[in-house]
Amino acid sequence: MKYLNSVKKTEIYGKTCLLRLDFNIQDNDLKNSIRLKRSIPTILFLLENKCKIVILSHKGRPAGKLNIKYKKSKLSLKPVSLALAKMLGQKVKFIEHFGFKKIKKEIDISSTGSVFLLENLRFNKGEETNNQLFARQLALLGDFYVNDAFAVSHRANASISKITKYLPSYCGFEMESEIEVFNSVLKKPKKPLILILGGAKISDKIGIIENFYNKVDSILIGGGVANTFFVARNIPIGSSLCDKKSIPLIKKYINDKKIIFPIDVIFDDKKAIVDIGSKTIVKYSQIISKAKTVVWNGPMGVIEKPKYQSGTLGVAKSISKSKAYSVIGGGETTSFVVKNKLDDGISFVSIGGGAMLDYLAGYKMPGIESLK
Ligand code: ADP
Ligand code: MG
Repeated sequence: MKYLNSVKKTEIYGKTCLLRLDFNIQDNDLKNSIRLKRSIPTILFLLENKCKIVILSHKGRPAGKLNIKYKKSKLSLKPVSLALAKMLGQKVKFIEHFGFKKIKKEIDISSTGSVFLLENLRFNKGEETNNQLFARQLALLGDFYVNDAFAVSHRANASISKITKYLPSYCGFEMESEIEVFNSVLKKPKKPLILILGGAKISDKIGIIENFYNKVDSILIGGGVANTFFVARNIPIGSSLCDKKSIPLIKKYINDKKIIFPIDVIFDDKKAIVDIGSKTIVKYSQIISKAKTVVWNGPMGVIEKPKYQSGTLGVAKSISKSKAYSVIGGGETTSFVVKNKLDDGISFVSIGGGAMLDYLAGYKMPGIESLK
């Protein structure tokens, strides 16, 4: 893999860079977005090297529906271009169409140091189908390609995977730091190593449990993930959220001493489990306080409702206070921690959710493989 960090100046100086970022950011999160902040070092480095930058990104899941309304759609990247311009202190030219010839011309006549952001790539069918022609059309816009979108690198999309066939391709600074942190957690974690898993579904977390099982000292379970384990252990959960399809896959863990379940829970008025209870918070905090490495993904409860935030807040505070090396990830998890200003106490906040889980599960990621 070629890192932007070690690139020879002659390879990029004065050239046009296609920079893939993950700007999949809700409009009201733009102000404090770590995804935006973490994109800046790579952008500044390219600008120092007198590059023109064409930023590629997606937002949400329009499923390739390219209709006129997308200009006003919630899935447009226009608000991101304004927020980025503010952060960079320079103009970011937003291109809201996919007339590739016209775009190319506009880039060609622009001055050194120009920054462009293309509209949501997923308005094209070819993006999510990893289409060759679409990847080529994108590639023709630049001289080299940089992937700094760790959070979407577990997807075989045209601007992540196929595009590297056509251009010299490099791994950006943000992506490099994600890979470095996760490799150190996987290969030489300081023990005790604690994994904390919550959130809605367990299906995307089974891989990480399997891959970590032999390295980890304890796995603390919360959120909807705990509910599914309760059902697997024949504990009734009423109308609580449960990922029934995954039950056969977790049966082997239900009596495992390494896997720690909530000892009390909070119910809502429909008798659904919506948070871990206060005794569990104390128990989990004690375990966290003895850890040397903590990896956390997924909230302990339904954090959209302030009444059910206690478990997640308790866990976040314990990690933030502890001296352990801590890594957290997941859209909801990280934005909750940032909103509660607890991120200063976290060693590394990943911009990845699914990508973090896939990397830690040891799965091959298309966006990383294609850089090799
Ligand atoms: P992240 O985005 O941090 O990776 P997930 O997407 O896996 O996390 O899960 C976040 C969602 O999990 C939140 O919307 C939250 O409401 C939900 N959740 C957590 N615990 C429960 C629960 N007990 N019942 C229902 N939903 C839950
Ligand atoms: Mg999520």
